[in-house]
Amino acid sequence: MDSDLPKRLLSNQCVDLSHGNTMALACMAESVVTLTDEAQLDTFMAGYGEGTEDHLPLFVLSGGSNVLLPAQLKAIVLQPKMRGISVVAKTEEYVDIEVMAGENWHELVVYTVNQGWYGLENLALIPGLTGAAPVQNIGAYGVQLEDCLQYVRAYHLPTKTWHHLTASDCQFGYRDSIFKQAPNTWLISGVGFRLHTDATKILASYGDVQTVAQRYAEQQGRTQAVPADVMQAIIDIRQQKLPDPKQLPNCGSFFQNPIIPQEQFTTLQTTYPTIVGYAMADDKTKVAAGWLIEQAGLKGSGIAPIVTHQQQALVLTNHAPYQSTQNDVADAQKYIADAVYKKFAIQLSREPVWVNTDGSIGYNEHVA
Ligand SMILES: Cc1cc2nc3c(=O)[nH]c(=O)nc-3n(C[C@H](O)[C@H](O)[C@H](O)COP(=O)(O)OP(=O)(O)OC[C@H]3O[C@@H](n4cnc5c(N)ncnc54)[C@H](O)[C@@H]3O)c2cc1C
Repeated sequence: MDSDLPKRLLSNQCVDLSHGNTMALACMAESVVTLTDEAQLDTFMAGYGEGTEDHLPLFVLSGGSNVLLPAQLKAIVLQPKMRGISVVAKTEEYVDIEVMAGENWHELVVYTVNQGWYGLENLALIPGLTGAAPVQNIGAYGVQLEDCLQYVRAYHLPTKTWHHLTASDCQFGYRDSIFKQAPNTWLISGVGFRLHTDATKILASYGDVQTVAQRYAEQQGRTQAVPADVMQAIIDIRQQKLPDPKQLPNCGSFFQNPIIPQEQFTTLQTTYPTIVGYAMADDKTKVAAGWLIEQAGLKGSGIAPIVTHQQQALVLTNHAPYQSTQNDVADAQKYIADAVYKKFAIQLSREPVWVNTDGSIGYNEHVA
């Protein structure tokens, strides 16, 4: 689209977003602006605050795999769909690339591994677009986005200015970043990565990854697993463990693993010797939320049509796609969190982003 077009031509009114979120919740947005280049954002923002849409706040949406959208979204939805992957620098040891926000994350992972550029392979099959990946510092199988990220190019919506944020500017934490802390403040348009070229360097210590990757390596006549084998292993393991949102709508892990004092964990261990927890710093323990839900007797149940998955209690699935709403999710969420609290006195917090009718966000809201 021509970037000189006036803002009214950039936006579409009354758009059905029920197919634009992997939980397949019914959602009607007042206005959607699809951005295929950065200049369009400048054009749109130059007029924002001066026209008829003044009263509407802004909300940024990418692949919709980590959001719970409201039935009515009275906001202007900005969809960053800029595409492109470019090599910025290259040596024998590493390759620096810049990836535009609209690139599909999993396709990017496969592309880089096929090029012989490594580091992202453990993050294979995470749904969504590249621009959203820094928001919760996506992580899986022992790797977090921040391990390879060099910088983020982002637009600061309140001041209408472009910024280059280094990895330390992004203030990454576990499933956390500056972008998550200040929702709807930044629009990420590009992400810079440094990837390595050493095929002997892999991280496969998590769960079954080493065994499955080694099997792939041997099938290919290799004695040692390479990053492509690790990627394939992770794809296999994830496909077995997690429901595909295209077949059964869901938004991945619904609850965060709660962090409790070590003392409380030790007390729980006496009653529940099989409780699953990982020791953390500061005398804290991270407890497996899926285990808690399963032990509360809620594997495969909830409040229809929103129920936990048969194989993975941490995942809430929607059995009435495009019809059920955020309220249905809230009911099921409360039911599950209450049951877990009653049994273990542990409060569960949701992981996906709860979007209010005006586009504002309720992160980490306690639900018990
Ligand atoms: C089956 C399944 C498995 C998953 N597994 C994992 C996993 O292993 N690890 C993990 O970390 N996550 C996982 N997720 C969660 C999710 O895929 C990631 O958080 C992903 O990065 C979200 O991308 P998205 O494009 O769908 O973002 P959206 O859901 O569209 O947006 C998520 C948040 O980011 C903001 N946002 C989106 N794009 C931008 C942008 N360009 N600039 C600024 N803000 C933006 C939105 O406003 C929203 O607050 C999983 C989800 C599913 C459904």
